[in-house]
Amino acid sequence: MNYRKETVWGWGRWHRRPAFLDRPEWPGEVRPARYLEDFPRFLARGLGRSYGDQAMNSDHLLVLTTRLDRFLFWDEKEGILHAEAGASLDKILTFAVPRGFFLPVTPGTRFVTLGGAVAFDVHGKNQHMDGNFGNHVLGFTLLAPSGEKMWCSPEENPELFRATIAGMGLTGFLLDVKLKLRPIESSLVMVQYKPFQSLEEAEKIFLSGDREFPFTVAWLDPGLEKGVATLGRFATKTEIGGASPLPVHGPPRLKVPVQTPAFLLNRLSMNLFYRLYYRIQAGKGTRLERYEKFFYPLDGIDDWNKLYGRRGFTQYQFVVPMESGVEVIRRIKTILRKKGCRPCLAVLKLFGDDGAGLLSFPRKGFTLAVDLPVTRRLPRALEEADQVLLEAGGRIYAAKDARTRPEVFKRMYPELESWLEIKKGIDPEGRLSSDLSRRLEIC
Ligand SMILES: Cc1cc2nc3c(=O)[nH]c(=O)nc-3n(C[C@H](O)[C@H](O)[C@H](O)COP(=O)(O)OP(=O)(O)OC[C@H]3O[C@@H](n4cnc5c(N)ncnc54)[C@H](O)[C@@H]3O)c2cc1C
Repeated sequence: MNYRKETVWGWGRWHRRPAFLDRPEWPGEVRPARYLEDFPRFLARGLGRSYGDQAMNSDHLLVLTTRLDRFLFWDEKEGILHAEAGASLDKILTFAVPRGFFLPVTPGTRFVTLGGAVAFDVHGKNQHMDGNFGNHVLGFTLLAPSGEKMWCSPEENPELFRATIAGMGLTGFLLDVKLKLRPIESSLVMVQYKPFQSLEEAEKIFLSGDREFPFTVAWLDPGLEKGVATLGRFATKTEIGGASPLPVHGPPRLKVPVQTPAFLLNRLSMNLFYRLYYRIQAGKGTRLERYEKFFYPLDGIDDWNKLYGRRGFTQYQFVVPMESGVEVIRRIKTILRKKGCRPCLAVLKLFGDDGAGLLSFPRKGFTLAVDLPVTRRLPRALEEADQVLLEAGGRIYAAKDARTRPEVFKRMYPELESWLEIKKGIDPEGRLSSDLSRRLEIC
């Protein structure tokens, strides 16, 4: 077979490496036996929204899933959708919103495939109330490297179900996923804006959160101290008056055409941006907003990751137990400042229970995600930050990672041993492998 060879990168554009690509049109064309004639290792790749080397497979094969995006079954009464795993959340929303349904959990971008959402058991602004994506998955068809197809659900092949949710694409190729959606009366969101001057104040806002507002997030300024919390819930029909209740999002309005010079995101421009942003957001009070503005503010600009210039950026996202949250954030902030690493964007969220997958990232506590331009001193700074996390019982999110060392990752994810047992059972020769899995010395 002839496969195209191309340079591939993660969303942060930090590392870029060549891989061979296959782009099947039909599920029957995904044939591990055929791949193994040419490559010892292969991996699925969705929309490439993971930040680092998760969906990279240097000099091996990447199977692009985006043409495998058909809907197979829809139950209008129960809101159950069964779709091929290359279907994007964007496509699902376009179909479901006019019918009065929304995703049960959504990450901060809708340009993610069902397969990618399962492979990292993604979380949203309602994690503390509704869990992760995997908690709403009723089942999926997994294609093992042996070519065997298996239906996995909490009842059928439950071990494989738990190992594949947040299994980083390493337990098999997800062919299709069955998901339960949430009913909505309107697609508009009632949003409360609450400014805060310190992390303690942010913590209070989160912990006293009204259960009526299941979606909570806070944007922090580059100093990682003050910011604005936003609390949201879907509006009722009565609240939106005569307006059309179920408007659907449109395509992105703007596009970053080329990689911009990194100096555009310097200290001065970022401080000016945040001062303006803070003033506008803090004064908003309570208002109705379109869902795309509330859930997907960055999706309005296509290719916004090019704004970070040639060297790219990474997102350092971690979770820490509630009691040490503020202290850990301040210690990490000090490390970053001392090493001259300037956060460009920082988002704070509250987590509730653990996810459904053995390697799901969330656990009870606070999670902070910080976007950092790549500099020479960044890797060292983040290694120091990792040590602070380990001491506090915290861990980093593998979907955003591009540099953690294997020994650190293993200490952060003690469930890895049990996961590896299952991986060995389904893929004894380690055919499913990625740049991330080799960097972390998992397989
Ligand atoms: C702007 C932005 C905001 C984000 N916000 C959040 C957030 O709020 N919460 C959150 O949890 N994440 C968030 N993410 C991360 C993103 O949701 C995950 O990285 C997700 O996995 C990306 O899905 P993808 O389709 O792009 O997959 P890719 O990045 O292409 O691949 C990710 C992984 O999924 C595996 N995979 C993909 N398809 C399949 C398949 N069919 N079978 C088996 N494995 C498969 C790949 O092998 C790889 O390991 C965000 C990312 C961006 C860029």
